[in-house]
Amino acid sequence: MGSANSYFKDLFNNTSDLIHFVDADGIVEMVNPAWLSKLGYTSEEVKGRSIYDFISDEDKPLYLYYRNACIAQKNQENIGVTFISSNGNSIVLEGHLRPFFSEGKLLHTRGVFRDITLKREQEKIQKDQLYKTTQFLQNAPDAVVIIDEHQRVSEWNLKATEIFGYTREEVLNQPLAQFIIPLEFREAHHRGMQHFLKTGQGPVLNKTIEVPAINKAQQEFPISLSISNVKVNNAWHFIAFMSDISEKKRREQALVQKELELERSKQEDQRNKDFLSIASHELKTPLTNLKAYLQLALKGFESGQREQAKKFLTKADNFSDKLTKLIFDLLDVSKIQAGKLMIQKQPTEISQMLQDIVRSSQLLYPSHTIFLETQPNIVANIDTGRIEQVVVNLISNAVKYSPKANRVEISCEERDSNCYLRVKDFGIGIKQTNYDKVFDKFYRIEELSKNDTQGLGIGLYVSSEIINQHGGKIWVESNEGAGTTFVVLLPLGTTSSGGS
Ligand code: ATP
Ligand code: MG
Repeated sequence: MGSANSYFKDLFNNTSDLIHFVDADGIVEMVNPAWLSKLGYTSEEVKGRSIYDFISDEDKPLYLYYRNACIAQKNQENIGVTFISSNGNSIVLEGHLRPFFSEGKLLHTRGVFRDITLKREQEKIQKDQLYKTTQFLQNAPDAVVIIDEHQRVSEWNLKATEIFGYTREEVLNQPLAQFIIPLEFREAHHRGMQHFLKTGQGPVLNKTIEVPAINKAQQEFPISLSISNVKVNNAWHFIAFMSDISEKKRREQALVQKELELERSKQEDQRNKDFLSIASHELKTPLTNLKAYLQLALKGFESGQREQAKKFLTKADNFSDKLTKLIFDLLDVSKIQAGKLMIQKQPTEISQMLQDIVRSSQLLYPSHTIFLETQPNIVANIDTGRIEQVVVNLISNAVKYSPKANRVEISCEERDSNCYLRVKDFGIGIKQTNYDKVFDKFYRIEELSKNDTQGLGIGLYVSSEIINQHGGKIWVESNEGAGTTFVVLLPLGTTSSGGS
């Protein structure tokens, strides 16, 4: 067994700690080999010199302070001091200072230090990194929110404050859902989270989705959201990147709207073009016939066949009626376009008006029986001629578009100060997608219109304008293949004398 002295000597010589003894005047008495090798001096270069010669200029006052404090019986633990090595490098040492006294007089101070340069550098790198990450998060162009397994917010950047209206302080450590998830989605969010924690499966993780969110003012708006998950110290953390896409959505919708309008105006252009050729054809046919029958009648008179001539004249008269109707229709369109379709209202007994119309229509359309069911004494303030025009067109359509049927039903009733007039047929019907279109100018349903039936696609356009000017409504109800009902609603106002 060696003496205690030899153990201490061994320890002094072989420890990796840096040990120095400095006398009362700050002169180095002794340093151990670890000290010399770490700082790169020989013992001759060190002995007899001031300890301050080996300390960086910035830390000299600090070391002086530590030494004085330690001499005043306050041990200095965990102090950090930057030493300068023989080749001028800074070496950060951490350790403690102890004073030794003999008969009340300071003998020396002893320092035991350890090189923490590397540790300090690592700490600095980590700090820098953390600083950079926080800065990056705080100033990221997207809202960045980090939550833990309990859905509590651990990070909330500036953009999140801008988008959602809550400050970082308001949400930190609080459950996220109550702030930004609309009420109706909170349950699903919670379930999704539990499912992930149990199974490790999260269908919304690591992809970008569009969902609704709410802000502090409780306004709902669409966001794009992507969530990533990371495991730190055995616990999951979820990072959500979010951005407000209201503006983008608005632009998309506006674009769709614009395209729809463009498509509609294209179709209208096309109809305008088609119209010219159809109109000239429609006008030409009755005109040619009119002329032909007039010539035949003329010949009849010349040859003294009066009866024959009379028959041709009647035919000519029919065609001149058709021609007149066409020209009046065209005139109506141009009046509507110029805003000059005038309505002159007068109290009219509607059931009486309908009976008159049905009587003359029945003569015109012998192929169909026209039934009329109406309450008596419905009086409305209307432009009689114009409303007659609407009903006549509805009847003519009902007959024209039900070639295989043999009846048309008309009804009229008063309800809630309105008069409901219905024209029902059992014909080909109208697809729901065409319900509105049939009221467009020059619109005729493709499949059947062009060749099979005559018409310019004006009747319903003019009708709807007339009904609008009366403050009423016109719409269609149909079963494709089984028939169509056009409904006209006319407000009765104060002129009604009441139904039965
Ligand atoms: P016009 O009335 O100018 O002589 P039209 O009858 O073709 O010609 P509208 O009365 O405006 O024009 O009708 C527009 C289109 O609506 C028709 O071409 C037809 O395709 C469709 N339509 C109208 N009424 C009916 C109906 N009762 N059944 C089925 N389709 C109809
Ligand atoms: Mg018509």
